[in-house]
Amino acid sequence: MSQGIVHMSYITASILFILSLGGLSRQDTARRGIYCGMVGMAIAILATVLSDKVTSYGIVIITLSMGGLIGARVAAKVEMTQMPELVAIMHSLVGLAAVLVGYASFLDHALLLTGVEKAIHSTEVFIGVLIGAVTFSGSVIAFGKLCGKIAGKPVLLPARHWLNLLLLVVSIGLGIQFVGTDSVDAGLVPLSIMTAIALIFGIHMVMAIGGADMPVVVSMLNSYSGWAAAATGFMLSNDLLIITGALVGSSGAILSYIMCRAMNRHFLSVIAGGFGSSGGEAADVEGEVQPIDIEETAKLLKEAKSIVIIPGYGMAVAQAQHTVYDITKLLVAKGKKVRFAIHPVAGRMPGHMNVLLAEAKVPYDIVFEMDEINDDFVDVDVSIVIGANDIVNPSALNDPNSPIAGMPVLECWKGETTIVMKRSMASGYAGVGNPLFVLENTRMLFGDANDRLQELLKALQG
Ligand code: NDP
Repeated sequence: MSQGIVHMSYITASILFILSLGGLSRQDTARRGIYCGMVGMAIAILATVLSDKVTSYGIVIITLSMGGLIGARVAAKVEMTQMPELVAIMHSLVGLAAVLVGYASFLDHALLLTGVEKAIHSTEVFIGVLIGAVTFSGSVIAFGKLCGKIAGKPVLLPARHWLNLLLLVVSIGLGIQFVGTDSVDAGLVPLSIMTAIALIFGIHMVMAIGGADMPVVVSMLNSYSGWAAAATGFMLSNDLLIITGALVGSSGAILSYIMCRAMNRHFLSVIAGGFGSSGGEAADVEGEVQPIDIEETAKLLKEAKSIVIIPGYGMAVAQAQHTVYDITKLLVAKGKKVRFAIHPVAGRMPGHMNVLLAEAKVPYDIVFEMDEINDDFVDVDVSIVIGANDIVNPSALNDPNSPIAGMPVLECWKGETTIVMKRSMASGYAGVGNPLFVLENTRMLFGDANDRLQELLKALQG
């Protein structure tokens, strides 16, 4: 395929990726956005594989089939609750690819280029490997934290900010040395030392971030993976990779900003880590829990006029979204006003709850963002909290020592009655006790969310 056709295909793919992002910004156009992305990616892969630059089809076919097979197997096997971990480990692969391409590109071009061209190429390689290595090690730690293999508590080294600054200054020094070298052997030394520093920096950065701030980490690493891909694009002189990387990098950065705003955090403070861990011990939760059974729950719902459903991570674990919607339809048919309240960091990935509700075909017009519904709780008769914990924790507002202090939460306790569905008194992702469970107007409905909701559905039908 001629370079002209390849370039045309790349422009078409880039336009489709932009349309894809546009589509994904709204639930009712998200499906179209996905299709645009899929077609764009198919065009991009075909154009790359069929371009004149490919010298060995054997290697391309072997690597594409291996990657395709592994990807398809993992995607088919992964549970919805494991999606955030999968996304994190995928980011790590983008980072690793940037590092490997950086080294290969350096070894390939080091002796061919001279003067300004060499300086520009060396800078691209150095920055690409730096971003790639931070993304790789940071994403591996994020993967460990999201699947519970590494504790969510922030690990704070003494003088960690000075340590980060020192690593940065040393990396800049190594960068200057690397750009100035004129042999492969001399260049490999600063490049390898910087790679080790970047790997340590990625580990240190994510280890220092507390459980409740993980949403920002996920979106930030998403952004880094985009910039790593863009850097790879510069090294390979591939326009499409530069555009796609920049799209992912900037949209990830915007998402990080949105997440920070939702959690009332400053981006730099989150990256610096250790939020909520230095101000003393969080207050213990004291008080009597009031359990409720299915019959009483059904009675409360039958009497209620205004009902708000607050889904959280536990709804994803229990896969209760379809039963929740069956109950919603029944209640709406009985003349109740039923709405869903979505916290921006509910679940384990941005938009997690929206995806689940869309899967169950819950209409968008009864799904409200936190800001849209929080003031309405005073007029709500019954709020049902389904497997949510941190996002309805009042200590975020009134305990300055809480790890989630300052994060806006869904203020369901302002309504008449709150029913909390969960299996035990265990804490949520941030590992902090929840005083909501012992409030006078809270009732605890213990058990797996889907099992209990199915019983509730039967009781409401009866
Ligand atoms: P939480 O993790 O705070 O709470 C989930 C609750 O669900 C648990 O307390 C658990 O209690 C309960 N649960 C688990 N399984 C079931 C089940 N089968 N049936 C019923 N209940 C169940 O989730 P939230 O959604 O409230 O908050 C999200 C948290 O995750 C925040 O701290 C956020 O910062 C963090 N986070 C969010 C990310 C994002 O991008 N959205 C990414 C990474 C972290 P029990 O075990 O007793 O059943």
